[in-house]
Amino acid sequence: MTDMPALFIGHGSPMNTLERNGFTDAWRTLGRRMPRPRAVLCVSAHWYFGATAVTAMPNPRTIHDFYGFPQPLFDFDYPAPGAPDVAAEVVEAVKPVWCGLDQDQWGLDHGTWSVLAHLYPDADVPVVQLSINALKPLDYHVELGARLAPLRKRGILVLASGNIVHNLGRLQWNQPDLAYDWAERFDDAAARQLAEAPGDVLKLAEHPDYAAAVPTPDHFIPLLYLACMAAAEGQPLAPLVRGHAMGSISMACYGLGDVGLTCEEAEGAATLPPGVPPDQSNI
Ligand code: ZN
Repeated sequence: MTDMPALFIGHGSPMNTLERNGFTDAWRTLGRRMPRPRAVLCVSAHWYFGATAVTAMPNPRTIHDFYGFPQPLFDFDYPAPGAPDVAAEVVEAVKPVWCGLDQDQWGLDHGTWSVLAHLYPDADVPVVQLSINALKPLDYHVELGARLAPLRKRGILVLASGNIVHNLGRLQWNQPDLAYDWAERFDDAAARQLAEAPGDVLKLAEHPDYAAAVPTPDHFIPLLYLACMAAAEGQPLAPLVRGHAMGSISMACYGLGDVGLTCEEAEGAATLPPGVPPDQSNI
């Protein structure tokens, strides 16, 4: 079996689920060009809580974990099946790290389905989610991510979904393609680090703009999973898509393996549409 690629996708606003823009077009292209996986294992920024767990129910529910968005987003359903067998493989792969099997607490959150709505719009690829253990330090996630790398040989697409720069307190809702200087500096530093030494990705936590770019670690940690998978193979990471949204969000995406898309191809189309309501949170 061909090794499946692994991805880090900067997911941005949940409205990307329903919108079409340069980023979502790139995600659709990836979905068409990548080899079809047996299942997706998503590490989503939005399942950030006090344990390591993987969804193991046969039919995960669609979780609408936000408020203040238009009704069509709450009506959106992503009925992909779960994969209890894949969940069990994840538990084995990460040992001796303990990972619980979640039968009824979580499901698929918008960090997962806002991207999969474009990667696999027919919701016909089974999906499991791995939580981000909020009680653990960053290096725990680097170690855990490296343990997931062998799953690529078993037909599993690891999808890490977050944002390298994610500061909700400084969003400029009415400037969809704005990038603050500090956001660009940090995003550029991440690109250099991932190209030169992805295994040293934690050096980014010492960057002078880290505090502004990563005020909370939930959207940054998914990047660690892809970076250490790349490091485990001695591979550098080049961006698939780059761009910024609303000042303080980086939309950069990275891929490991043969994803069938280059940054040059995706370049120039990356502008988010305006019209996002001002009272939303938790994107
Ligand atoms: Zn998010």
